[in-house]
Amino acid sequence: MRSDPLGVAELDQRGIPTNQCLHCGSNVFTIKAAFEDYEIVGYYLDAECAVCQSPLTAPCPVDRPL
Ligand SMILES: [Zn+2]
Repeated sequence: MRSDPLGVAELDQRGIPTNQCLHCGSNVFTIKAAFEDYEIVGYYLDAECAVCQSPLTAPCPVDRPL
């Protein structure tokens, strides 16, 4: 764990896809995305929380529980 400029400790959440940051509760993530025809056609699962910068794994449809 390390601290961001706001003093909020980060939590490494990589490995388990999640819709929500387990550290701060935010559901806004920073991702790398690819676009075609003005729409997202793919994205990397390596992501980080946009609020507290904790590294995490972004979800995708196959991760949805049955
Ligand atoms: Zn967070």
